[in-house]
Amino acid sequence: MDTKYQTLRAELIERLREINDLHSAAAVLEWDQLTYMPPRGAEARGRQLATLQSHAHRLGAAPELGKLLDALEPEIAHLPPDHDDAALLRVARRDFERATKLPSAFVAEVANHTSLSYDAWAGARPDDDFARVRPFLEKTLDLSRRYAGYFPGYAHIADPLIDRSDEGMTVAAIRPLFADLRQFLTPLVQAISARPPADASSLHQHFPEQIQREFGEAAIQDFGYDFTRGRQDKTLHPFMTRFSWGDCRITTRFDEEHLGAGLFSTFHEAGHAFYEMGTDPAHDGLPLGSGASAGAHESQSRLWENVVGRSLGFWQHYYPKLQAAFPQQLGGVTLETFYRAINKVEPSLIRVEADEVTYNLHVIIRFELELELLEGKLAIADLPEAWRARYEEYLGVHSPNDRDGVLQDVHWYAGLIGGSFQGYTLGNILCGQFYAAALQAHPEIPGEIARGRFDTLHGWLRHNIYRQGSKYLTGDLVQRVTGSPIQLTPYQEYLTTKYGALYNL
Ligand code: ZN
Repeated sequence: MDTKYQTLRAELIERLREINDLHSAAAVLEWDQLTYMPPRGAEARGRQLATLQSHAHRLGAAPELGKLLDALEPEIAHLPPDHDDAALLRVARRDFERATKLPSAFVAEVANHTSLSYDAWAGARPDDDFARVRPFLEKTLDLSRRYAGYFPGYAHIADPLIDRSDEGMTVAAIRPLFADLRQFLTPLVQAISARPPADASSLHQHFPEQIQREFGEAAIQDFGYDFTRGRQDKTLHPFMTRFSWGDCRITTRFDEEHLGAGLFSTFHEAGHAFYEMGTDPAHDGLPLGSGASAGAHESQSRLWENVVGRSLGFWQHYYPKLQAAFPQQLGGVTLETFYRAINKVEPSLIRVEADEVTYNLHVIIRFELELELLEGKLAIADLPEAWRARYEEYLGVHSPNDRDGVLQDVHWYAGLIGGSFQGYTLGNILCGQFYAAALQAHPEIPGEIARGRFDTLHGWLRHNIYRQGSKYLTGDLVQRVTGSPIQLTPYQEYLTTKYGALYNL
């Protein structure tokens, strides 16, 4: 590499780090807004976020950056596409193209609107007041359509919105995958519903928050969560956020009358954090140093939450510890009863509390409604009814209010409509593929989990997935790691084996 190349490369890295610093500062403000900020801070916070984001956007769309990318591209033409520099250029070019297609005023309008919209939702949800958020949601839909309009040439209006979170995925690719999955899940849910229901009453007792927190934090520390590079705080709708390689935080919410809620949310968000903590520190502050996509990220949160955290092996080791933490509540509950309780399959209203089997039906409903809203086939005013009808059709449950219906998820109230949900189910599918590949490489993993050891699994994931950051498109990453394109079979086999045993199918 000659000195001209090194000079250009150093300038690129400096510019990209500056943009990343602004995004990270905005992330700190957002984290604060969702954890500790008093309600009346909302208005100014919206303005502050808009300022930071529009400044980041201006730097990301600067003509000098475009010229720099143009000058660097011939210099890296001889490199293989998976060389770090070639991958960095690809991702930097992608971000530059996205930024230059969006006017700064539009970016600021979106940032300011979503902040006010979130605030309206946070007040409207406890009051079950859809009318209060309706005008915000109408504007969000309008902004979402306008967003897609800046990326002409798409096959479906949702494609540019999906591309933001799951780059390379399209409606045309996702629709058939989800249709096949629904066809597999519907008879499975029916077969389980015909069996005697699991007794989950042991989870619905009084579990003091502090003890729940200590147990969950000890478990994720065993998984490999590094508390010198992160912390856990409380919020309304749990999330993970990365400020840097050295600061990947998680949030959770506790319910003292239900053991599962806080514990599995902690496992879930820790899984997201492992992905970020496992990236290459040399890429910190650069676009390569973060997870590949929403779906790839969700594959890791679901892996640690469900495949590990709801497995019989995990609880063979940890259940005696949980009983010791809650002797009055769980002293007389057997491991088998507890294991059945945390894996109880039951169609319900709330996505984040749904079991592994019905969960994807919640996601497919949202994905379909997003497409219909964007296509203009469904009006915001009719959304609560459409939501109810779809829940009755797919899950056989009726929502008596909007709080547990269309108001339950933050996504449409804190972002655009379109592209916000498909990653959850793609994540489950990818999780099945990645875990099968990990087991093929290391058949000893389940035995280790049953002894409270996670280093082989965590090490395999770090080496094959986390360390790569966003070097590969998700489809290419899957092909590289598993030897196959994205496919349903391993996930279906996982569900069939686990729930076949649980429900004697
Ligand atoms: Zn997640």
